[in-house]
Amino acid sequence: MTSSLTVKCPTCQRAVPWIAEQLFKPFCSERCRLIDLGEWVMEEKRIAGESLLPEGDNDESIFFQ
Ligand SMILES: [Zn+2]
Repeated sequence: MTSSLTVKCPTCQRAVPWIAEQLFKPFCSERCRLIDLGEWVMEEKRIAGESLLPEGDNDESIFFQ
């Protein structure tokens, strides 16, 4: 008895069998998993980078001196 359950790879939309041998599910491959993780990490960095650029604060400190 084999399960025919499949999911779609979130990165490339390929059908991925939902089995123990599919190590990267719901992704079809490690590459697709890394692509998805990479996009997520890049978004996190973009948000953090914006808060790490206190352009307004720099202007204020210049006025203070
Ligand atoms: Zn994929």
